Amino acid sequence: MLPLVVVADLSHTYSGIAAPTFPLGAGYVAAFLAEKLGSEAEIVIHKFPKETYEDLSNERCVALLLSNYSWNEQIATVLATIAKGISPGIVTVMGGPNFPTESIEKKQWLEDHASIDFYVELEGELPALEIVRRLLKGHDLSKLRFELQGTPNLAYLMDGALVETSTRRLSEIGELVSPYLNGMFDKFFKDPLIPMIETTRGCPFSCTFCADGLAIKNKITRHTSRIVEQELDYIALHNPKSPELIITDLNYGMYPEDEATSQKISQMQKKFNWPRTISASAGKNKSDRIMKNMEVLDGTWSAGASIQTTDPNVLLNIKRKNISSSAYLDIVNLGAKLSADSKTHSEIILGLPGDTKDTHFESLRFVVDSGIDTVRMFQAILLPGTDMATAESRKTFKYRTAWRVIPGASGIYRFGDKEVAIAETEEIIVGSDLISHSDYLDCRVMNLVVESFYNNGIFKEVFSILAFLKFSKFDFLYKLYEALNNISSVAFTDDLFKLRGTISDFREATSNSIFKTRKILLEEFQKSMNNKDQDFELGRNEILYFRAILMTQMRSMINLVVSTLDYFLKEKQSEHNFYPKFYPDLIKHLDASRSVFSEKSIITSDMKVVFSADFPRLISDISHGVLRASSLQEKVNEKFEYTYALPVENIDYIKKQKDIYMKSALGMGRMIQRSNLNLFFRRPVIMSTQN
Ligand code: SF4
Repeated sequence: MLPLVVVADLSHTYSGIAAPTFPLGAGYVAAFLAEKLGSEAEIVIHKFPKETYEDLSNERCVALLLSNYSWNEQIATVLATIAKGISPGIVTVMGGPNFPTESIEKKQWLEDHASIDFYVELEGELPALEIVRRLLKGHDLSKLRFELQGTPNLAYLMDGALVETSTRRLSEIGELVSPYLNGMFDKFFKDPLIPMIETTRGCPFSCTFCADGLAIKNKITRHTSRIVEQELDYIALHNPKSPELIITDLNYGMYPEDEATSQKISQMQKKFNWPRTISASAGKNKSDRIMKNMEVLDGTWSAGASIQTTDPNVLLNIKRKNISSSAYLDIVNLGAKLSADSKTHSEIILGLPGDTKDTHFESLRFVVDSGIDTVRMFQAILLPGTDMATAESRKTFKYRTAWRVIPGASGIYRFGDKEVAIAETEEIIVGSDLISHSDYLDCRVMNLVVESFYNNGIFKEVFSILAFLKFSKFDFLYKLYEALNNISSVAFTDDLFKLRGTISDFREATSNSIFKTRKILLEEFQKSMNNKDQDFELGRNEILYFRAILMTQMRSMINLVVSTLDYFLKEKQSEHNFYPKFYPDLIKHLDASRSVFSEKSIITSDMKVVFSADFPRLISDISHGVLRASSLQEKVNEKFEYTYALPVENIDYIKKQKDIYMKSALGMGRMIQRSNLNLFFRRPVIMSTQN
């Protein structure tokens, strides 16, 4: 009987699969061990807690190797503790970026995680092989501790003292073995998981909030193009359940070799109609190369440039240099041009050192007015192992921090006869001497407004009108923000009353979901778990949750947006000559196209609409910067009948996204966030013009 080595990169599953991706990093370690150890041991790779637990109960199990990210540290630690309970001889190893860099903190971490025997820093393949090889030779834990002092990338306790070995990165990631090509990942194709590939490793930049900004990770290594191409073919032929492909590179498109990868993906899209969308972080410079890759991928890469902040002082504090404004605008304009369905995105972080309510709003203004399709807004997280989380940085910038349950990463699990409530937690910045609590909540409400009323082209027709008339889109969003916060004179209606109620609930929930210390948070979490309510409030992403609620209030949103547009244009004394029924027709058009989200489902049936002018053509003209006089004339004796329908391939896309995300009450928000929302909207098809 072969000894069994279990490798796991766990995802919470209580509220649906929280991390719905192939376990790539752990997969490389598992595939490397399988190749090097051959018939000496059986190596298995897992993603889900249940099957990992089942293998731990197998008497052949000799080692458990676990990934450690902020979203799975606790569940991995619980399984390591269970493994030690089943068989104290099982050796437990953990690795991943969620680990401190200061020696004193490493020691504390290892003391707090007594069930973890060894921690692997940086790449795990070689240290994991060294540990397992010695274990298979029959060396016990105390012998291993003594022998491994010369093996790079390890941290562990020996007789209560911290052992830190030298650090080393692989000289070439070409040394790695693909877990796709050796068949280890075959079993994951039956699950609704997103395939991931890695073509390069490392990042040449040094942002202080990021674990990849550490100097040791600055060197770039690359897989051979042959391996990348073979992996892509393998994935496509195995018919993945997800229409998406994630490229995990930290700066995709920045290197000359990336174009060959994009060409290969483009060929596959033509042959297999997969992947429909590609997610990859775009490089922070070489915008010409990035744009070339965007062209090759014909709008299916949601490219963007992460900005995080536009404030020069904050950028200085986080040691970051952004892409230039002109290169940024070039990327945005190209994204808009490439295809009607393409989308560009940018990222803004709230609460970075030196940030204020004004600088946060100005950062949002820059990205929105640049025409980016989607702004992803994050809170500043103090990740272990980053510069920003050090005591010195905390002292310099005087952050006010709080703890929260990581969205989606918590739940109750049954292992054998035990039931355990587990929550992953993180420390976020919720203010400073420059941001009061009320400023913080205002910023979060503005984030919800941008997410719900702007992102993914949800009301792109309205923003096209504003762009056509040369008004700031952000000014309009600010007008919505004022209306929703009871500080504007937009006409009060039942719809506004309802939406204000949702915003007020969001404000309250945002305050209630954060706690001063991790201990208090965990106590509250236990209380909420005792109620066994699957839709429990701690651990949901407030922005996504409330955005999903707003989506089910779509008719009210549409009425608010159209009445605010009318109000905004009058206030600006805009000279336009829309026909008298323009606003009612805009409401009809938005309603037919966008009212697809009900509380638990997506409505994909067709809708018929009759306009008094050729409204869809008018709106399409405006989005292309044209306004024909003929389109503005209401036809007294003519009616324009349109059917609003979803293309068949989009119904298929929606079905696949539903299968991945909508297993729980919280899934709708995550699905909306991770999808190309344009593919959910009905499109107008003219049926007839009637006299
Ligand atoms: S550029 Fe991106 S990956 Fe690189 S250090 Fe900065 S945030 Fe991290």
